[in-house]
Amino acid sequence: MLHDISSPCAKLWLMAERLYYNDPTLIEFDAVVASVADVGGRPAVTLDRSAFYPTSGGQPFDTGSLGGLRVVEVVESDAGDVLHVLERPLEVGEAVHGVVDWDRRLDHMQQHTGQHILSAALDRLSMARTVGFHLGADVSTVDLDKPLSAGAMTAAETEANRIVWDDRPVGIRMVSEAEAASLPLRKDPERTGTLRVIDVEGYDLSACGGTHVRRTGAVGTIAVLSSERLRGGTRLEFVCGGRALRQLRTYRDAVAGCIRHVSVAPSELPAALERLQSEAKEQHKAVRGLLERLAVHEAAALAGQAETLPDGTRLLVRAVEAADPGVLKAMALAICTGPGYRVALFSPSAPHLVVVARSKDVALDAGAAVRGLTATFGGKGGGKPDLAQGGGLAGELDTMQAAARATLDPGK
Ligand SMILES: [Zn+2]
Repeated sequence: MLHDISSPCAKLWLMAERLYYNDPTLIEFDAVVASVADVGGRPAVTLDRSAFYPTSGGQPFDTGSLGGLRVVEVVESDAGDVLHVLERPLEVGEAVHGVVDWDRRLDHMQQHTGQHILSAALDRLSMARTVGFHLGADVSTVDLDKPLSAGAMTAAETEANRIVWDDRPVGIRMVSEAEAASLPLRKDPERTGTLRVIDVEGYDLSACGGTHVRRTGAVGTIAVLSSERLRGGTRLEFVCGGRALRQLRTYRDAVAGCIRHVSVAPSELPAALERLQSEAKEQHKAVRGLLERLAVHEAAALAGQAETLPDGTRLLVRAVEAADPGVLKAMALAICTGPGYRVALFSPSAPHLVVVARSKDVALDAGAAVRGLTATFGGKGGGKPDLAQGGGLAGELDTMQAAARATLDPGK
């Protein structure tokens, strides 16, 4: 799900006091239940004041407790009220103590502030404007209005981290519409009236209603994980702060796991895997060659089991264990190098493969024979008059073999 970052995020409602507007680190507060409501069949309340952030502007809601009850979701109503969805109802007028889960709040503050800085760096270095932001459960995304080279992405990432390590103050300013018009905001605000502006000192001014850290240093690290082309622009996946550390641990474990199997330095892993893959391909090719040569030997034994028909030609219909259709084909071809053979070989397990072949001096359309079999038993197949194959045949093997015998025997 994508959110336009300027409209809901910059929305500023003053119906109930939103404590996080001025102090995003305030996580305990006392309030009074102002009204009760129902959100999708679950009890909810509005308060006279709240530190809980409702889902908006691409940032998910805070969790925590209210009067000892779990706050399972926080949503903004169409009228702009903050609705706290609870596990059990509360009553109007009740005094409650609220506690916001700090780990989740801090995580969201790190990701959201990191997004402001990364978006500003992309804007400044590549004139790539952020048109969407989503703070996900594991990774966050920004959508940019233009394609971006890998070099440009790395340059913006480097610059964004430089701003983080500068440990610049991140201010919250409430400004009038007129004042806002004179400020170099990164994006024009879509709403009118008083605006809440997030000020990354000397670097970025953005109208936003979200929660942010007080100094850029608290973002820790901004790491871009991937980029992809999207609708003429670019979608970047990124993580900040604690998530960057968790991501590093995931990569570290994955790399360590690979290195246990391939003893090379981490930077040499891609080349080592490529080498392994091409070696495996070569070996597969060699094994196939051997299997086909083995099939020729087995074919000699099979040919001896063919029954001689009244016209002097020899008929062989058998189920044969083979690694793949190629081996089955090689076997049938080897038998038919001798004169007078009519051969149908099946794989023993369903769905069945079938190969029909004949010697040069025999009048039989192998392609038509296979098509006849697939018409009866399903699957697909076809080929030339001297060699054809089919696959995906379903049914009793005995019945199939009887049908093949009837097709291949000119006397029936
Ligand atoms: Zn923000």
